[in-house]
Amino acid sequence: MRDVIVVGAGPSGSYSSFLLSRRGFDVANLEEHMEVGRPVECTGLVSRRVMNMAKTKSAVNTVHGAQVFFPDGESVHVRKNEETIVMDRDQFDKDVSAMAISAGTDLRINSRVISVKIHPDHVQVRYRQDGNLREEKARAIIGADGINSRVRKDVFGSVPRRIVSCYQVDSAVRLEDQDSVQVFVGSKVSRGFFAWATPSGDMTKIGLGNVGGGAKSYFDGFNRRFPANRILGINGGAIPIAYLRKTYSDRTLLVGDAAGIVKPLSGGGIYTGMVSGSHAAATLERALESDDLSWKSLSAYQKGWRSDLGRELWIDGLVQRFFAMLGDRSFNSMYRFISRPEIIGLINRTGDIDFPSRVVLSLMARNPWMFLSAFRHGR
Ligand SMILES: Cc1cc2nc3c(=O)[nH]c(=O)nc-3n(C[C@H](O)[C@H](O)[C@H](O)COP(=O)(O)OP(=O)(O)OC[C@H]3O[C@@H](n4cnc5c(N)ncnc54)[C@H](O)[C@@H]3O)c2cc1C
Repeated sequence: MRDVIVVGAGPSGSYSSFLLSRRGFDVANLEEHMEVGRPVECTGLVSRRVMNMAKTKSAVNTVHGAQVFFPDGESVHVRKNEETIVMDRDQFDKDVSAMAISAGTDLRINSRVISVKIHPDHVQVRYRQDGNLREEKARAIIGADGINSRVRKDVFGSVPRRIVSCYQVDSAVRLEDQDSVQVFVGSKVSRGFFAWATPSGDMTKIGLGNVGGGAKSYFDGFNRRFPANRILGINGGAIPIAYLRKTYSDRTLLVGDAAGIVKPLSGGGIYTGMVSGSHAAATLERALESDDLSWKSLSAYQKGWRSDLGRELWIDGLVQRFFAMLGDRSFNSMYRFISRPEIIGLINRTGDIDFPSRVVLSLMARNPWMFLSAFRHGR
């Protein structure tokens, strides 16, 4: 019997597989696709923290700023000394998976898990590989199988609580400013989230998210802002932006998107997925060694990831709901506050892609009335 089966070879699954294999555990990583990293459903914007966790050469560009466009066409430009990396997500996933394989993980591609059963003394996993039905047993399982997690459905019986649907294209358009991401807010570009254009080396990733569904219909209008826009590829996908109340059970842990451990304000889930993956590996290491894989023993996992991320994700979630309620008038009046030089300076000092609440809280502390009146205006 295996020590651990990890379902899904995205960043969260490959990183937990790597950490557990490195500690000498017998890990199988089951991935439904023929190729790790494909299809890509990501913009690839991450902090240096993420790149430091992996041995990877996937960076294609670095940016230091963001230009935020408001509904009336005005914009503010914020800038940081630290770089944000734009990476080739396909390559990144392959690199993290290669780390797991070199540490001893048995990666099985084209292996779609179709059922998970938790027994008192083992986990039973059924999967389809090359059309054949196969079965594997393990002492524990990690569900790293993304937003539509099979492990979550079979063991927890739950669904993501809040979703942003995204539509994104790889475009041959070249942005003049290669050092800044463009961000767009307002009712014309998104329902409850935002739109973006990210310079990614030879191309630009242009996309938007919508709370709920319907991203494509908003995208068609938004995309007209980029003339002579030759589309090289289309990638969409959905992002869960509320974490589950319970991310552990007997012999089972959920990490990354499967657990909704994603920053609600930006939809970024690579950093949070890998951090949750490292807590899952640390908890399982102790539980496997003491042979106590009960829910009680594994509850340490939730305490662990929450101590690193819980406060951030909770505040982000509240702020995201607040922004989702704002109308164009509120955004435009926010522009008048944000565009003041001292406020831009404050944003430059406190902005952090992995901890976005810091900048929002510092803005709120500076001018709580602005947020209250924006809330009052609503849509
Ligand atoms: C358009 C878009 C843009 C984004 N941009 C960014 C960004 O710029 N920065 C950022 O940090 N985040 C971004 N995200 C979010 C980010 O992509 C996810 O949070 C991240 O991929 C989560 O990693 P994960 O390993 O938890 O899940 P995933 O990357 O979804 O990996 C899950 C894996 O499980 C496999 N799988 C699923 N079901 C099964 C099954 N039954 N059996 C076997 N295998 C299975 C899948 O094939 C997949 O490989 C974006 C998301 C979208 C949709």
